[in-house]
Amino acid sequence: MRIRVCHLYPDLLNLYGDRGNVLIFCRRAEWRGIEVQLDLISLSDQVRFTDYDFIFTGGGADLDQGLVSKDLEMRGPVLIDAVEHGVALLCICGGYQLLGRYYRAQDGATLPGVGLFDLYTEAGSRRLKGNILLDLDPELKGGIMPCRGQQLDTLVGFENHSGRTFLGETVRPLARVIRGNGNNGDDGTEGVNYKNAFGTYLHGPFLSKNPHFADLLIARALFRRHGSVDLAPLDDTLEINAHRVMERRLR
Ligand code: GLN
Repeated sequence: MRIRVCHLYPDLLNLYGDRGNVLIFCRRAEWRGIEVQLDLISLSDQVRFTDYDFIFTGGGADLDQGLVSKDLEMRGPVLIDAVEHGVALLCICGGYQLLGRYYRAQDGATLPGVGLFDLYTEAGSRRLKGNILLDLDPELKGGIMPCRGQQLDTLVGFENHSGRTFLGETVRPLARVIRGNGNNGDDGTEGVNYKNAFGTYLHGPFLSKNPHFADLLIARALFRRHGSVDLAPLDDTLEINAHRVMERRLR
């Protein structure tokens, strides 16, 4: 079995070590004997997104987002087509914002988004930052495998963004905020989920303390070509302890 991974703009959207999410995704697949093909794609590189099982893009400051937005907008229709055909995707913060309809930066400049997600983002004056604890959307809890017999249905991470994101009718939030700010510090939502595509403000990198969500992504990425795959359990003692420490600290 092989899983094909596309890391989009690794040189430009990689705030707070977001590339660590790709390393964690690939290792957790390899530890189960799944062969991994990882391709790094940046500005003007040719790519056919439906060739891949999982696409990742990280966060970035407004400047980096500006460098990426034209290239990403051009790729929009084929990226949307890939997600509509079941390709899994994870985008973080700045990358997440650019996959919505638009991102209006602090200086008032509006970057067009890809329109994959029914959402928009507008920068506020105060940065929303700090450790964050979330309760996974109920529709996603069913896809979470127990880690060493423990059912994790929370997410922990670190957020730092000025953007306030507002979700439209055709998408679900990734989670609800237990402690922290989330999408906009007001409506209690965090992130977004549409089909097998997920966006979140959680840096960290996000998957390091959320192994259960990493495995959900792997399962979603494999489904299109292989159907439901039972992933062998891994020894996640360290990751679960790190998760529980933050969960206790934030509750
Ligand atoms: N520049 C965007 C904001 O400040 C995204 C920042 C990030 O990716 N952490 O909201």
